[in-house]
Amino acid sequence: MSGIFDLTGKKAVVTGGSAGIGLGMAKGLAEAGAQVAIWGRSQDKLDRAVKELANLGLTVHPQQVDVSQEQQVVDGFGKANELLGGLNTVVVNAGIGAGQARLVDTTTEQYKRVLDTNLDGAFWTIREGAKYMKANSEAGNPGGSIIGISSLGAVDGSPSNYAYAASKASMIAFVKSAAVELARYGVRVNAVLPGWIATDMTERLHDSEIFQDRVISRVPARRWGKPEDFAGIAVYLASDSSTYQTGTSTLVDGGYAIF
Ligand code: NDP
Repeated sequence: MSGIFDLTGKKAVVTGGSAGIGLGMAKGLAEAGAQVAIWGRSQDKLDRAVKELANLGLTVHPQQVDVSQEQQVVDGFGKANELLGGLNTVVVNAGIGAGQARLVDTTTEQYKRVLDTNLDGAFWTIREGAKYMKANSEAGNPGGSIIGISSLGAVDGSPSNYAYAASKASMIAFVKSAAVELARYGVRVNAVLPGWIATDMTERLHDSEIFQDRVISRVPARRWGKPEDFAGIAVYLASDSSTYQTGTSTLVDGGYAIF
């Protein structure tokens, strides 16, 4: 690939890059010429992702990292930096849903489990990634790009998924805060807000007629989003074409938020 979206020289970590939206973005980044490390907890999922991309002629580096464990995030970045020979792009995508529970039935354990990954994990990923990008800048090189995956639920709320909605709203707050602090190092930080995307996370809704009628029929694009729908936005935000864009939130939702 050449031109304004050429990612040659970009070295990216994609957390949760072994499936779903993260895999869609990892594929896009690799296709555009970036070197990519994908993180996830399950070695099987990582292996499947590596194989899927290898069949397309793309190479990615799998790393078994659980972002809810601070030390694993720290060590994971050290290893990624070695594997890729530097680091200038981080996609903060790893996330889990809690399963549906009404407010009064949500246990503290369910609530905290979601925050461990979606809030603490995101914070550690942004903090550790930023250290490498700040160092790039101090060495006279371009800083980099951090892309945080939030959700439409951050702005609309997510009834029956309280910790999830709160964690995704936090992503927007992290992004805006880090964008201000890191701009001086040439590091930009932006959020992407997916709408309804067909992945393992939403699997139990795919075949639900009620959900299909009440939700997907309201999507102006008249379909579920797909992981591939996130390749372009990832490439753009990682590329030098977006160097004057920071602190923003971009919806990728087929128009759902209009109504
Ligand atoms: P999937 O369940 O399809 O994929 C999640 C990915 O994250 C997997 O690779 C999973 O691998 C990894 N992961 C989960 N927990 C951890 C962890 N603690 N450490 C490292 N990796 C982890 O989810 P989606 O692709 O649907 O979701 C991706 C992101 O997009 C999430 O942040 C989600 O909140 C957000 N989003 C999704 C929407 C949708 O409709 N699908 C809508 C709005 C936002 P493993 O299990 O092996 O760790």
